[in-house]
Amino acid sequence: MLSNALQKALNEQIKNELYSSYLYLAMSAHFEAASFPGFAKWTRIQSNEELEHGMKFFDFINDRDGRVGLLAIDAPPVEFGTPLEVFKMVLEHEVKVTGTIHRLYELALKENDYPTQVMLHWFIDEQVEEEKNATAIVDQLQMADDHKGLLLNIDHHVGKRGAE
Ligand code: MG
Repeated sequence: MLSNALQKALNEQIKNELYSSYLYLAMSAHFEAASFPGFAKWTRIQSNEELEHGMKFFDFINDRDGRVGLLAIDAPPVEFGTPLEVFKMVLEHEVKVTGTIHRLYELALKENDYPTQVMLHWFIDEQVEEEKNATAIVDQLQMADDHKGLLLNIDHHVGKRGAE
């Protein structure tokens, strides 16, 4: 059985993951409008993955005989900046998400809830990947600076996500 505190925190995390999904979808719409098909595809795939993350928490609460209570999701921004600004926002966002996962883990430790700790190991690893991937794109965009040709190259390369 999940403790009340943990159930509440896991429900919060469903909301956090779905907000991430919404945020990446908004970024994807922005990149579509700005004619960067590669970045649009990357953020769209990312949006789908975040929905899957939310569903992992949804399933886990149900598996533990807990009760899912869906919370309101904030609207993400509509306007975004340059690709570099957007990917800096991606990195900043993922660092924040890492913090929420780590706080959940601390709570699972405090409550001696071993199954939740084991389930969260996957997310702890995943956040290392998320930060690594976002950092790599930020670094590339920083190198390209305002060079349009290089920017389009990076867009093309980033758009290969999901094709490997
Ligand atoms: Mg996530």
